[in-house]
Amino acid sequence: MKIYKRKIEIKTSSRVEFIDITKRVLDIVKDSKISEGICYIFVPHTTAAVTINENADRDVIRDIISTLNNLIPQEGNFRHMEGNSDAHIKSSLIGISVEVSVAGGILELGTWQGIFFCEFDGPRNREIWIKVLGE
Ligand code: ZN
Repeated sequence: MKIYKRKIEIKTSSRVEFIDITKRVLDIVKDSKISEGICYIFVPHTTAAVTINENADRDVIRDIISTLNNLIPQEGNFRHMEGNSDAHIKSSLIGISVEVSVAGGILELGTWQGIFFCEFDGPRNREIWIKVLGE
């Protein structure tokens, strides 16, 4: 089995934003030359996340962001002194990793699916750690 590791660096531009990283992850899978296996996508941050959802209609992402902001407002009754508890909670709710099957040398995603990096306390410099495992 081969293991191929890469890091994606991104600079977010607003406090809350979802960035489509599908193409960048796919490029890493192609560079890995692994045709059958799994791609593990990990976010090493406590106020960010990663998710897979629709990348055709951008209103889906807008609805997810507005619902999260309504459920967990920035100015809640929180104790964490840094003032970003909402971002920590959103990170835990959405999660900091996803896996996608690799088949035929590409990501095996559904027609409408894209991989999104989720910023909840930007703007910041962020990393996403990618590991492709397989043959
Ligand atoms: Zn904090």
